[in-house]
Amino acid sequence: MSEYNLDLTGKIALITGGSRGIGKAIALAFSSKGANVAITYANSSSSAEQVIEEINKQGSDAMCLQANSSDFNRANEVIDEVVQKWGKIDILVNNAGITRDGLILRMSEDQWDQVIETNLKGIFNYSKAVARPMMKNRGGSIINMGSIVGLTGNAGQSNYAASKAGLVGFTKSYAKELASRNIRANVVAPGYILTDMTNILDEKVLEGIKEVTPLGRAGNVEEIAAVCLFLASDLSSYITGEVIRVDGGMAI
Ligand code: NAP
Repeated sequence: MSEYNLDLTGKIALITGGSRGIGKAIALAFSSKGANVAITYANSSSSAEQVIEEINKQGSDAMCLQANSSDFNRANEVIDEVVQKWGKIDILVNNAGITRDGLILRMSEDQWDQVIETNLKGIFNYSKAVARPMMKNRGGSIINMGSIVGLTGNAGQSNYAASKAGLVGFTKSYAKELASRNIRANVVAPGYILTDMTNILDEKVLEGIKEVTPLGRAGNVEEIAAVCLFLASDLSSYITGEVIRVDGGMAI
């Protein structure tokens, strides 16, 4: 590394689930540092279009694509479209994720399948599809969005915790397989972050979360995007297979 550089000028990034919340903040962070950015979304086409407008205002090129992360063939199409438009892909953030909470005794097969297919199979779909273009590009950085729940477990979230724990094992295996091609893969594991996903929790639960967070507050989406920016950039060029908690100390 010749200099300490967070600049992403000339880099191409794809962020799944970039229409809202953490994914949107990552898209804006990357484009603010010069990257051209593609985002996917499941349903929110108008929110996704707004993100594209904001990225364009920052002077970067952008596109959005409707794509359910659990759809294997669609993942290949999305990667192909990005490479066709910009010629390569440098950064993939597997951010798309959902919760379908319930205690095990009450959890339906459908609740289990939806979460595993979106959060875990989705990561396999995109990480596999991007491997060849990244090999051709002689390198890349993949960031998989985990959760501290995948490290600690949480009552009422066995499906979600399994998906987030599963992606840690997947990421470490992927990192070992593709390190010789200069492709790095890491996990960011957020704690409690203010987004649509968490604003459905009731006040009592939220207060309880804050009490067990040493920094005493919820995190914001920019605090997750900042770590993704580091992992996407050359500043993290010797880090692969790592899990970085961004949780205010919750899982210490
Ligand atoms: P969010 O506000 O609910 O946003 C979710 C994003 O994912 C949206 O862009 C959504 O698209 C997209 N998405 C959902 N299902 C999808 C699917 N099947 N295919 C493609 N895209 C899909 O959630 P968030 O809080 O930003 O969470 C983002 C990631 O961080 C998730 O992986 C989540 O598990 C993780 N995380 C969040 C927290 C937290 O406290 N918020 C903590 C730990 C980890 P639409 O807009 O079209 O629905």
